Amino acid sequence: MPKLATTSSLSNYPKLNISRYRDQLRQSGKASSIELNYSYRGKSYRYSVQLTRTPCNYGNFRHWWLCPSCSKRVSVLYCAGAYVCRHCLNASYGSQLQQPIDRLFSRAGAIRARLGWVAGIAHGYGERPKGMHHSTYYRLLNEYDKLVRQICGVSMEMLDKIRGSISYE
Ligand SMILES: [Zn+2]
Repeated sequence: MPKLATTSSLSNYPKLNISRYRDQLRQSGKASSIELNYSYRGKSYRYSVQLTRTPCNYGNFRHWWLCPSCSKRVSVLYCAGAYVCRHCLNASYGSQLQQPIDRLFSRAGAIRARLGWVAGIAHGYGERPKGMHHSTYYRLLNEYDKLVRQICGVSMEMLDKIRGSISYE
């Protein structure tokens, strides 16, 4: 399994709802897996995710993913490198919360340096460096947000207020 990504809320992750494959599954009937083929953060992934199904109306079946990590039956998988269920994603996020504070500081410092921001999280947010891809910038920003939240213990609402004063373009 690839290492799981570290952002702070489910909405940050690409989702894959089994309903997207409804038509395809209806035609193939007894498919027991779906092959995923995608790239995420510059890496290519190709593997099959097992399916299961439960009977529903009119002799049809409802299909479910079996999480590649824990085999739970779910209708939505989240991409954190590999696709996993919400529970696995939370477990991964939870373990991130237990990092020693100095590791959080040094990672936050590394991100600030990469962004060309003044050292020290007390200086708040800077700008996107010229020439850096938006996708790279937002990835770093997401990770940075999470680190700052962990370090400061500020609420998400409070952070949103700080973020609200920054323009992204
Ligand atoms: Zn899982």
